[in-house]
Amino acid sequence: ESRGSQDLIRAEEPVLAHNYHPLPVVVARAEGTWVEDVEGRRYLDMLAGYSALNFGHRHPALIEAAHRQLDRLTLTSRAFHNDRLAEFAERLAALTGMDMVLPMNTGAEAVESGVKVARKWAYDVKGVPADRATIVVAADNFHGRTTTIVSFSTDETARAGFGPFTPGFRIVPYNDLAALEAAVDETTAAVLIEPIQGEAGVIVPDDGYLAGVRELTRRKGCLFVADEIQSGLGRTGSTLAVEHESVVPDVVLLGKALGGGIVPVSAVVGRREVLGVLHPGEHGSTFGGNPLAAAVGTAVVELLETGGFQRRATELGAVLRDGLTGLVGKGVVGFRSRGLWAGVDIDPALGTGREISERLMREGILAKDTHGSTIRLAPPLTITGEELEGALGSLEKVLR
Ligand code: PLP
Repeated sequence: ESRGSQDLIRAEEPVLAHNYHPLPVVVARAEGTWVEDVEGRRYLDMLAGYSALNFGHRHPALIEAAHRQLDRLTLTSRAFHNDRLAEFAERLAALTGMDMVLPMNTGAEAVESGVKVARKWAYDVKGVPADRATIVVAADNFHGRTTTIVSFSTDETARAGFGPFTPGFRIVPYNDLAALEAAVDETTAAVLIEPIQGEAGVIVPDDGYLAGVRELTRRKGCLFVADEIQSGLGRTGSTLAVEHESVVPDVVLLGKALGGGIVPVSAVVGRREVLGVLHPGEHGSTFGGNPLAAAVGTAVVELLETGGFQRRATELGAVLRDGLTGLVGKGVVGFRSRGLWAGVDIDPALGTGREISERLMREGILAKDTHGSTIRLAPPLTITGEELEGALGSLEKVLR
């Protein structure tokens, strides 16, 4: 016997850890840009799994790749080779303009792996004295939830009660090259930043910032590690967000959409001089690079190789920007956007981001606040112009 939404929400309360506060919608099915709840109500998905669903729900090519692989081989561990991993690594490296791939599973794992690789590079290649390596990061970052990663978060909610923390990180304001210049010294292994800060509210840095980070890190002899876990894989109108400034980092961290919304797939991709520091036994993951992940990941790369999704994100990104521009002064106090990704600051007098998200939900639009009165819009890149206009219309209505 099937259970209704209210019953399922109540049933979670005593048995699920309360580390999330979901909108009160219980999704049971989805296709493309649309999800359907237990009672059959339909919603337009304007969050897209925090950009894990860039290609929409159950994209036919991705589902087919997963089905085909499920019928053949799902897991070997890296104790053995599997026949899918070479192609995945070759094509992902080619897509991102990098040499080597370290396959992991979640975003946080890719960040952790990037931190470890940068430190090892600092000792083995740069010659930093043992245990002295530092990594410079930006305030208001979001890189994940592990102990080391929250060690360099500036969000007290993410940190309080979880110490002691991992040392070796320096925090500077985002979008501030002078502060970065002052923080980088001979102990610095890497500068680790998001090319656009997603969870902070889709904060787009000034033109020239990313190019400045590239110039500074090269001049000072440390690595530029770009966390493209949310910004990458088509979201901003290019394969990587750093491409907007024609910047090539030393290391790029990928996750979310790399698994096509089907399986968790993440990766550290980088130059051979950097990823080459890892030797057998020094790092690993039971599931990292498994054949199902590699098959889906390869199908994701294949979708991006066409350039079609990046083009859609650019074209529809203009529709999103124009629509939001028209709402400024009508409940929207400001917004930032690039491609199909926007952080929209709502007039706090009209409600919190949470309240606005609940009102949008009742209009059949699923979106989520980042914090305060800012909501994030990040629909699947498969969204149509009509659907996007509809979502903007609903936003206008709930702000009235
Ligand atoms: N890095 C960035 C930029 C992210 O936006 C996120 C997730 O929101 C992560 C890392 C962590 O990814 P995961 O939740 O898969 O661990």
